[in-house]
This record gives sequence, C-alpha cells and structure tokens, in this order.
Amino acid sequence: MRKLKHLCVFCGASTPSHAAHAQAILELGNTMLSRRIGLVYGGGRVGLMGIVAERVMAGGGTVLGVIPHQLQRRELANLDVTELKLVDTMHERKTIMYERSDGFVVMPGGFGTLDEAMEILTWKQLGIHDKPIVFVSIGGYFDGLAALFERSIQDGLLKPEYRQLFAIVPSIGALFEYLDSYEPKMEGISPWA
Ligand code: AMP
Repeated sequence: MRKLKHLCVFCGASTPSHAAHAQAILELGNTMLSRRIGLVYGGGRVGLMGIVAERVMAGGGTVLGVIPHQLQRRELANLDVTELKLVDTMHERKTIMYERSDGFVVMPGGFGTLDEAMEILTWKQLGIHDKPIVFVSIGGYFDGLAALFERSIQDGLLKPEYRQLFAIVPSIGALFEYLDSYEPKMEGISPWA
C-alpha cells in the first residue's frame, strides 16, 4: 500500500479490566515506534487512549491529539503530545483525525470507539475515502460485531461486497500484515449502486 505515515487509533477512554487490552495497545505503540508511524488519537490521558499516547511519546514518536474544549477536563487533555488540537465539536475532532491519518485501527473500546469506527466505515461505504480500517479483536473482543455484520449481510441489510471495507484481525502482528499488503478494493462500492 501507499506509505503509512500516520495511523489513527480509536480505543477506549476507560481502563479495561483485562490486562490483555493494555498489553495489546502497548504492543501497538511499540510497533508504530519501530516503523516510525505517527499516532493520531483523541487527545486524552485517560484509559487505553492515554496508554498508547504515552508509549509513543516516551519512545520518541510523534503524536497528534484532537480533543473538543468541553472534554478537556473529563478526558484529561494531554498537553505533552507533539501537537494538541483543541476543537469545538465532536465532528471537527473526527474530521481532523480522518484528514491527518492514512489508516484507522480500532482497538477495544466503548460507545465512543464504536461511534468513531462506524462513522469512518460509513464514509468508506459512501466512497468518501479508501483508507484501511482494521478492528483488532483482542481475545475475541469484536466477535459479536463480526457476527452482527454477517447477520446484516444475511438479512440483506449490508451488501456482501462491503466485507472488503474493513478487516477484523486477532492481533497486532496480523494488523500490520494486513496494512502491509493493503490495496483498496472499492469495486461495487458506490452510494449510487
Ligand atoms: P469510549 O470508547 O466510549 O471509551 O470513548 C472513546 C473516545 O471516543 C473518547 O475520547 C470519546 O470522547 C470519543 N467519542 C465519543 N463519542 C464521540 C463522537 N460522537 N465523536 C468523536 N469522538 C467521540
């Protein structure tokens, strides 16, 4: 694929009860450092998002955080990242995160993570972009979502070709294998079809 310089990571603003999630996000940060890939993320110090930003900064990488003014306190805006953008709305946050990234990694998270992932997926479905979107299903975290997508295809609510819009992988190793060989395949994907 085209050179991956900046990866956007969507992940939980909470601290998960399973150590595997924190370990995986640290592994993600380490791999980004070794590949000199910059992090784009939600700009907070809390939860998994805080862990990955801290790891990349501590390892000498670059981090862009994008956070709305009203979340500055709640998510403990990280003023120590390479660049912190304070914005007015959630939509502005998502737009900047989208524009500044070459691909999207969805790690375990809650409603916010799912919202961000679904929006970037729908933008791809509409042909607005062709960047890779990968869910990293640590310990099968996204199994239920994968099953829901398959159910939607079976029930005729999602086109089968939309399977090519995203990948669900089991590990950070598999994430980078997917990204390394990624070629956008957008056949049959058109809002007007
Ligand atoms: P969560 O997965 O719920 O822990 O949230 C992860 C991140 O998603 C947090 O930084 C939230 O502020 C962010 N988030 C929640 N809703 C939205 C939204 N509508 N647009 C952009 N970011 C959001």
